[in-house]
Formats: sequence, C-alpha cells, structure tokens
Amino acid sequence: MFLVETIEDLRNKIDALKDDGTLGFVPTMGALHMGHISLVEKAVLENQITVVSIFVNPNQFNDKSDLEKYPRTLEADLKLLKDTGCNIVFAPDAKVIYPKKDTRKFDFGPLESIMEGKHRPGHFNGVAQVVSRLFEIVKPKKAYFGLKDFQQLAIIKNMVKQLDLQVQIVPCDIIREKSGLAMSSRNELLTAEERKNAAVISDTLFKTKELSKKKSVQELKSWMVETINKNKYLSVEYVEIVDDIQLQPVNSWDENSAKVACVAAFCGKVRLIDNIVLTD
Ligand code: AMP
Repeated sequence: MFLVETIEDLRNKIDALKDDGTLGFVPTMGALHMGHISLVEKAVLENQITVVSIFVNPNQFNDKSDLEKYPRTLEADLKLLKDTGCNIVFAPDAKVIYPKKDTRKFDFGPLESIMEGKHRPGHFNGVAQVVSRLFEIVKPKKAYFGLKDFQQLAIIKNMVKQLDLQVQIVPCDIIREKSGLAMSSRNELLTAEERKNAAVISDTLFKTKELSKKKSVQELKSWMVETINKNKYLSVEYVEIVDDIQLQPVNSWDENSAKVACVAAFCGKVRLIDNIVLTD
C-alpha cells in the first residue's frame, strides 16, 4: 500500500499498478472506522485497484470550530487500511485539491433544501466541489459511498448526472457499533457516557420502523422527537420522513415510494446523523 500526497505521485502509482482492470475509489475525511473499512473492502472485491483518499475538506464545514475539532488520525488510519487490500492512500494538502479558490456553485434544487442542506448551509456545495475535484484527479470507474450519509449519496448521484461523469456510484450499508449507534468519526469526540446514551438515536430509529405500521407520519415524527429529547444527553435538530428518491418529506404512508426516517441530533456538543429505511 502506497501513501501519496501529490497528483503526480498518485498518477504514477496508478499507471504502474493498473492494467485493464477497474479503479475503485473511496473518498473519506479520515479518522477511519469499520464503516469506512466496509466501503474499502467492497471496493477491493470489485476492482483491480482501490484508492482511498483522506482529506478533511474545509469547504464543506459551515462551522469553523467543527472543522478544527474534526479528528485527524493519519497513522492509525494507515494501520487500519494496511490489511484491507487497498493499493493507494491519497492524503493531499488543501493546496493540491484547491490550487485556487473553488467558486463553483452547484444547484441541487429541492434535494438540498431540507435536512442537512437546510441546517448546514453551503455544506453540499462543498461536498460537490471536493468530490468532483477528487473524481477529476483519481478518475475512478466506481466510487463507494455510505448510506449513513443518505442525503449526501443522493447529492453525489445528482452531481454525477449534472456533470455527465463516467463513474458508477455504489451505495454501501450503514455499519453500526454493538450498541446500534451508527459508526462515525465524530463518535470519537463523545465521552464514554455520551457514547452510551447516543445509542438512543439508533434505538429510536429501529422502533420507528416497527411503529411505522401503527402510527401516522405526523404522530411518528412527534414520537421520535420526544423519545430522543427525553434523554438528557440528546437534543434533536431535525427528524424527517422522506421518500428515497427526491428526499422530500412525505405526509402519509400511501405515497408510492420507499420511506426513510432521518435524524440529526446533538449529543453534548457533537452533532450526529443517522437514518433507517422504513419499507422492506
Ligand atoms: P466521512 O469520512 O465521514 O466523510 O465518510 C466517508 C464515507 O464513509 C462516506 O461515504 C460515508 O457515508 C461513509 N461512512 C461513514 N460512516 C459510515 C458507516 N457507519 N457505515 C457505512 N458508511 C459510512
């Protein structure tokens, strides 16, 4: 496994390793956990070469202190990646990704007007900037994204269409801790007590799935907010039940689409997101 920091080194390594097989790509912001590793393992299985990028993208943070606090653990990340079969780790400096200020403005319409798009202004524009730039540099055939960031996945698919890129986006299941808590780099910022209590978020989502047969959409959303907020460590930012294509809030179960329940909540000062598909 090679660690490279420049585009030139990356291209040289890819050229040296690749014959006529496909290149799989897993973009990450590091502080890797088994959620990330599951994406890498899938990429390794499906491609001749796997490239993982580690880059904490300043353009997608709408909150400066969130960017500063974001965990950076390159050595541990490399250790975790070593046995996955990943071929190249690309860990560039911001100047490599943005040699000059990226001023592109993407328009994702209603896809970005709710949930993460609404509560983190500019976030998805920054995500689209970095992912499109990384695609331009790495030139993958397939790129792997977690369903943990369900709205991000929809944004990336939309961006690929808008820019007419020749890359296949592969969605990957959410990997959870034993408690049910969705794995996240941000979990490292929780105290032990907070981490235990954060599992109330996933517990609530699992129960939401059961209750979706018994409660109306409105009743269920109110129940979710109440159940999470009852825990003294947690505070809901939003809950939403949306269709899985346009990600628009639904008002009833009759509408002809799969439904996904999504949550963003603070556990202490740490913002966590999670979701569950309600329809089997
Ligand atoms: P991040 O480093 O948080 O930007 O995440 C990089 C990729 O890993 C994204 O596609 C995430 O959706 C994915 N990911 C993060 N956490 C998980 C998880 N618990 N399960 C599956 N994929 C995940």
